[in-house]
Amino acid sequence: MFFRRSCSKVRCILASVIALQKDLKESFKCTCGKVHSVPKIEIVFEDNAFKHIDDFFENATYLVDENTAKLVETPAARTIKLEGSPRVLATMENVEKAMSQIKSDLIVSVGSGSLTDIAKYAAHLAGKSFSCFPTAPSVDGYTSCVAAILVNGEKTTAQAVVPKKVVVDMTILSEAPIDLLRAGIGDIAAKVTARLDWMLSNLLIGEPICEFAWDQLRDELEVVLDDSERVLSRSKEAVLRLMNVLLVSGLNITIVGNSRPASGAEHLISHTLEMYHEAINEIPPFHGLSVAMGTYVTLKAYRVIFEDVRLKRTCLTNEERFRVLSDFFGEEKAKRFMNLYERKIEPKQIDLDHVRRTLKPTYEKFLEKVESALEAIRVEELFASYEPEFITKLILISNTIRERCTVLDLLDQLCLLKDFARKVFEV
Ligand SMILES: [Zn+2]
Ligand SMILES: [Zn+2]
Repeated sequence: MFFRRSCSKVRCILASVIALQKDLKESFKCTCGKVHSVPKIEIVFEDNAFKHIDDFFENATYLVDENTAKLVETPAARTIKLEGSPRVLATMENVEKAMSQIKSDLIVSVGSGSLTDIAKYAAHLAGKSFSCFPTAPSVDGYTSCVAAILVNGEKTTAQAVVPKKVVVDMTILSEAPIDLLRAGIGDIAAKVTARLDWMLSNLLIGEPICEFAWDQLRDELEVVLDDSERVLSRSKEAVLRLMNVLLVSGLNITIVGNSRPASGAEHLISHTLEMYHEAINEIPPFHGLSVAMGTYVTLKAYRVIFEDVRLKRTCLTNEERFRVLSDFFGEEKAKRFMNLYERKIEPKQIDLDHVRRTLKPTYEKFLEKVESALEAIRVEELFASYEPEFITKLILISNTIRERCTVLDLLDQLCLLKDFARKVFEV
């Protein structure tokens, strides 16, 4: 990975990305025992790059939507414009649409999460290169090697292409719609619960863990969470810090090779919510906003573990689980998720004291920071658009959609999930 045109202030703020660049070779032997490859991604920082975007990419086909087309002028003959009301979703249909219209060897997304996911997955399927021009600091997908795509209404995390180049234009990023700034804070707050869940899974089912990813992220993550209000008031410095941490988080996914460093129970809740909306032909909240809701719930789940909250032990039966899944997605999909759920690895034994001892330093260090970041983006307003019973059901089934082991599985194993889901706002 290399940089150009970065002024010294930018360099200072981008300490963690720079550290990655300096310290890592093309591949390195990690303390987790694996050899990790570091992708070659050129990250260019230039204010007002949007005024001459075609200078940054050679013979590119641009992928835009209605909003970003108004923001950034791209050569009409090499521009694919996707339409969606009120916005474009990362569906397989849109990936196919993009694929069928690529006119060169390079596809460049001009947009935020969905357009980036569409472009990088289309590039992967079509055997093309991919670069991106982010229009909001709203997700960590810009530098990651995976794409979240809705295939037949099911959210799947697909292997995709790593960008050759990311052009970061602070003018564009700091003027992004306020909900996308909120979303960026949501997606970054999630790294704390993702980290806790990874440690938990390591303890419960022996999933291998890599410390490298967290080491790259944690110090800057602290600063960014404390800076949430300044991001929302569009301080360029704070927005740049947020973007930096999002880029590092995406790189962590690429270097580790899967989304584990960046995604735990909060993302499962977000994916389940997004699939629910998609199933009834509704537009879900922005990714980072539903992730913020998931992060809120996941932190509450950890509160149950750490603070010995009194909950009733009642196991959720598989019949109940199936009924809720069917309510959400219909019987056919419910059966598939039940199959997946039943194949999940169960911990041989649960040593709660050991779990508490291992996770506590991270939990205690970040709890208030994440809570205040979620408060800054007004997470409670997001919940207010749903009935409390709906949120209860959402929590009950979110651990069935992926193999990933999280704190929701721990509560499930302890027969606390049912009561927790009911009392999440009282915990
Ligand atoms: Zn995310
Ligand atoms: Zn590692």
